[in-house]
Amino acid sequence: MVMKEIQMVDLQSQYEKIKNQVNAGIQEVIDSAAFIKGGKVIDFQKDLEKYLDVKHVIPVGNGTDALQIALMALGLKPGDEVITPTFTFIATAEVVALLGLTPVVVDVDYDTFNISIESVKKAITPRTKAIVPVHLFGQNADMEALLALAKEHNLYVIEDACQSIGSVYTFSDGRKVQSGCMGDIGCTSFFPSKNLGCFGDGGAIFTNNDELATKIRAIANHGMTVRYYHDVVGVNSRLDSIQAAVLQVKLQYLDDYIAARQKAADYYDKAFGNNEKLTIPARAEKSSHVFHQYTLKLNGVDRAALQKSLSEKGIPAMVYYPVPLHLQKAYQDSRYKAGDFPVAEKLSACVLSLPMHTELSDEQLEYITKSVLESVR
Ligand SMILES: *Cc1c(COP(=O)(O)O)cnc(C)c1O
Repeated sequence: MVMKEIQMVDLQSQYEKIKNQVNAGIQEVIDSAAFIKGGKVIDFQKDLEKYLDVKHVIPVGNGTDALQIALMALGLKPGDEVITPTFTFIATAEVVALLGLTPVVVDVDYDTFNISIESVKKAITPRTKAIVPVHLFGQNADMEALLALAKEHNLYVIEDACQSIGSVYTFSDGRKVQSGCMGDIGCTSFFPSKNLGCFGDGGAIFTNNDELATKIRAIANHGMTVRYYHDVVGVNSRLDSIQAAVLQVKLQYLDDYIAARQKAADYYDKAFGNNEKLTIPARAEKSSHVFHQYTLKLNGVDRAALQKSLSEKGIPAMVYYPVPLHLQKAYQDSRYKAGDFPVAEKLSACVLSLPMHTELSDEQLEYITKSVLESVR
């Protein structure tokens, strides 16, 4: 038998295994014609609240909307500063800028890729109102330290859990809390390639705060709590019932999916752990890792040449992320220049993510690891 084509994410093979259940769920929605705000959305919301052990899940249209609505719910004013890491996907800073708030970027920790607490400390000013940590690649930031810092300075914490759903953080008192449920508000994305992905766009907001939940629900629904009475300026952002039907099925397998990703990561770790040209992803002490990405740091390896040589062998490999936020054209700002965030800049130059998904076979993993080792020799 020939080996299946290697992809960064293999959603077809994953779907094959749950096809009957997913198709039945979608068919139910079609038969009911309750496409928007249907029962499926509420069913999924309740299932996710239970899985996360959080009081409120508010489904929305996508992860970027989730971040925007979360920030809107805090009632911040133009000029208020929001701290976020510079080594991440653009969405976090984008919504801050769109709302007329001031994004303040900070450096990250070299080992975990996550927001550096020391760097946050230095960035806090009297105008700082919120911190948005991004749990990058599937591992929670150092939330215990971050929450303590936020409390000391009376700041909101909004977690970007778009890559980390299902990751668990253990506090020093032994409390275990799901990613996105530690700060004031958590945000996630159900973009197809995310760890819990639907068949289009989707997202959700998490909170244990009743008052914030009420505001968030209203903002996501045109600022309306009573129909056609608009108390605040809102947006239109909702998860549709077909996506909820898909997610309801996939949520049942999320723990299996996480285990499959961790197994693939273990395989990579074993193969690369002793190679001085490759640094395997560090596993944080207090957080489990759900491996949205498996990201190597290359030491003295020509990254473009490695990518090309892998590509010739049918192995995709991606650079997440090639340019930190403070060096992006759209966000160029007299406050920042190259060299300001040396860790993020170094990471942008040396990271390489390998195929990571729930369906990687041992045969594929063997082929990938062998090819990588051959290419860096
Ligand atoms: C995917 C992602 C988002 C945005 O989610 P969308 O659903 O694509 O809007 C935001 N932040 C991070 C870290 C992400 O990975």
